Amino acid sequence: MKQETIDQVLKFRDDRNWRQFHNPKDLAISISLEASELLEIFQWSAEDVRCEDKMDRIREELADVLNYCILMADACGLDLDEIIQEKVRKNAEKYPVDQAFGSKEKYTELKAAKRKEKETPVIRAVRGDITKINDVDAIVNAANTTLLGGGGVDGAIHRAAGPDLLKECRTLGGCETGKAKITGAYNLPCRYVIHTPGPIWRGGRQGERELLASCYRSCLELAVENGIRKIAFPSISTGVYHFPVKEAADIAVQTARRFAAEHPGSLDLVEWVLFDDHTMQVYTEAVNASD
Ligand code: ADP
Repeated sequence: MKQETIDQVLKFRDDRNWRQFHNPKDLAISISLEASELLEIFQWSAEDVRCEDKMDRIREELADVLNYCILMADACGLDLDEIIQEKVRKNAEKYPVDQAFGSKEKYTELKAAKRKEKETPVIRAVRGDITKINDVDAIVNAANTTLLGGGGVDGAIHRAAGPDLLKECRTLGGCETGKAKITGAYNLPCRYVIHTPGPIWRGGRQGERELLASCYRSCLELAVENGIRKIAFPSISTGVYHFPVKEAADIAVQTARRFAAEHPGSLDLVEWVLFDDHTMQVYTEAVNASD
């Protein structure tokens, strides 16, 4: 851009004392607004950008964008000429002439990244009491095969939900290890409880790992079938059932990630709500490791 033009734009602004409004944030918003006006014009003239009746508007909007770009560069103390040349050089390296899809490839990359973001749930570990979690549709109960309540997290869930939960559980006829059943949540601050009996650790040679993975899969399948998009798990089997925490965390996170990849767009949040520091630390590492 010619220095003369830049000087003119800056003088125009300073003469009217517009500097006070032209902070970087306002300028960024202005650029974005002008760009969206351009987009609106182009939407209706994608085939023939040069058609005469659109050219006037395009000329004006484009000039506005450039105006704001000059002011933005000035507000940030940047030399427009220099940054444009630098960017052209970087883009030329990234999208060489002899590789077919140039800038379109960049667009496709961005779209794919955005789609992935939408289709993949947030997977995380948080510290807390699962009976108090109120930002999910369902919590999972590390139950036993009778589904009639027990100690640990099972007892805490039944206490918080109230006696009607046990009443409904009595109608279910128990549940096999590795499978899952769903009930209402009664006084708990969510809509459903998914009950899954985890495996008791007996040294690792009795299918414990597969059964634990099956617990997570069964719960997630039930969740998707019932339109549950946000779900919170405790650390299944690592309490009185003595499954080693590190292995349990790896299986939990890997199973959830695999399930999410196989069911894109079905879940928004899968989280583990962990009661003690050690379990929290191990699950946090598992979540970060497989990110
Ligand atoms: P399991 O019989 O499957 O081993 P437990 O209830 O004994 O289940 O323990 C599972 C995990 O749940 C343990 O890490 C325990 O500390 C944790 N836990 C116990 N109460 C709660 C609670 N209210 N919220 C979240 N986790 C809990």
